[in-house]
Parts: sequence; C-alpha cells; structure tokens
Amino acid sequence: MGGKYVIGIDLGGTKINCALSDFKGDIISQSIISTKAYKGEEGVVNRIIGCIDNIIFDAKVDIYDIVSIGIGSPGPLDYKKGVIITTPNLPFKNFNIVQPISNKYNIPTYLDNDANVAALGEYVFGAGKNTNNMVYVTVSTGIGGGAIINGNVYRGNTSNALEVGHMTINPNGPKCNCGNYGCAEALASGTAISKNAKKIVEQGKKTTLVKYDKITSYEVFKEAKKGDYESLKIVNESLNYLGICIANIVSCFDPELILIGGGVSKAGDIVFDKVREVVNKRCFKTLSKSCRIDKAGLETDAGVKGAIALALIEKGIEI
Ligand SMILES: [Zn+2]
Repeated sequence: MGGKYVIGIDLGGTKINCALSDFKGDIISQSIISTKAYKGEEGVVNRIIGCIDNIIFDAKVDIYDIVSIGIGSPGPLDYKKGVIITTPNLPFKNFNIVQPISNKYNIPTYLDNDANVAALGEYVFGAGKNTNNMVYVTVSTGIGGGAIINGNVYRGNTSNALEVGHMTINPNGPKCNCGNYGCAEALASGTAISKNAKKIVEQGKKTTLVKYDKITSYEVFKEAKKGDYESLKIVNESLNYLGICIANIVSCFDPELILIGGGVSKAGDIVFDKVREVVNKRCFKTLSKSCRIDKAGLETDAGVKGAIALALIEKGIEI
C-alpha cells in the first residue's frame, strides 16, 4: 500500500485535538483548538477541517500520502454509519460527521466513540501493548469504557458497548444523568465525589474541605491522603463502588488487563489499592489473580493517539 501518514482527531466538547502521524504513531504535526460548540454542526465541522488543513500545511506532506482519518467523539454514535447520534457537549444530532470530511479530502474517514478510541490507543501505543484481552475504563466527570477482545475492539450490536458507567451498582442509589438510579457514574465518578464532598461541607460536618472555595475530586483525594476523616469516608465509599464496577467487568470479560485512566486515576495508589482489594474480594480467584489492574499509559494525547490507532487499524495497516 502506498502512503505514509494518517490523521487522528480527538473531538471533545471544549477542544479539538488533531494530529498527523506516520504509521508508527509518531506525531509529525499537531493542532489543538477550541471546539466552539455554539457555532453549530456546520461551524464545528469547518473548525475540524481548518485544523486538518493546518496540520497538513505544517507537516509539508503530500495529501496523497495520507491514507486515512480517524475521529474519536463522545457518543452515543453509530460507528458503521459515521453518525454522531447525540451528545451533551457537542451540537451534533444524528449528524454524519464522516461524510463532509472524507468528501473534502477524498480520504477514508472513520468514527468511533472516545472510550473505544482511548482503549485502542492504549492497546496499540500505551500500557496495553502486547495484550490480547484488555478493558480500558476512564473515571473523570463521567465513567466510560472500551474493550479489546482477542485483539479487536468489542463494539456490540449498536456500537455502544462498554457503557460501564451506566452499570447499576446500587439499585437504591442516586439519580444518574442518564435517568437511571445508582449507576457507577452517579456513585464513583469525579463528579459524584465532588458532589458528596459539597454535601458534607453544607451539612457542617467537621472536615478540612471547608477551606476550599471549589471542591473537585482532586481536593477530596488530597485531604483524604492527609487523613481527613470525612474525605477518606467519601473516597472509600466511591472507590468501593468503582471496585464493584470493575469486578463486574472482570467477571464478564476475564481480561488480562484493566487500565484505569481519567482524572480520578491520577490520585494514584489510593485508587488502585482499593479497586484491587474489591476485585480480589468479589471475583473468582482464577480471574482476579490473572488480571492486572494498572494505570493507563497515555496521558494528555490519549484521545488523539487513539484516533491515530483507529485510522491505522480501520485501514488495515500493520502496526
Ligand atoms: Zn447512568
């Protein structure tokens, strides 16, 4: 096959991160711009196209040497049709995002959801290299996941598999953004941790969290590590729920590796020790003993590296 390059696009509600890379995944040129979601469907597509134009210009490569474009976007979406169905922070509603881009450049373009793309990135370039069965779970404002089964992304019937954040963990739990009650996301995401912390401050409980104007999960972990009882209680409860979510994934998929990424994973050992403990307690020993639970390897460029991996794999390029 001719050609030397692919393009990866990480489309988010606040930023568009676009990179041109060689077949080894080494980035040659990159552009990160704000999404400006308020500009609407056409407006955001034009911003993506502007970003692609920039990286092609900066890299001084021949457009005929670019073989494919991969896009990672929040879902739900239709992978086969290249359609973003709906997503809270982007203007697209049942919008085919692949068509205007592939038409403009005459380059095959592929779309997948951001969690699948991040899983692919880890599998091809990150901490999941050399595995065959792995699950990636991101824990930040929400909780999402992607699975690589026997070396392929497992997408399910409608291409939205691994919505692990909406697994019911406590049937009597709080309402989730999705409308259901007691989802992992409503109990163990960064948002859930910060919500619980604000609640105990409002209740006037004795906690060192009172000194902060703004409490995110970062502050809660920070105070928990310093020994603040209430922070530690919140963190332990949330991590127990996250552990249950991960234990359920281990029981379903029997993976050799679970990678946890996203803001909450940055709290480090406190997260991983607790999750491993819960998995060991709740899963069959055969499964828990054979499954490593580690931190995701790709940091800031995880999304764009994943989109590059998508572009390479969909085009059938050996990596
Ligand atoms: Zn939910």
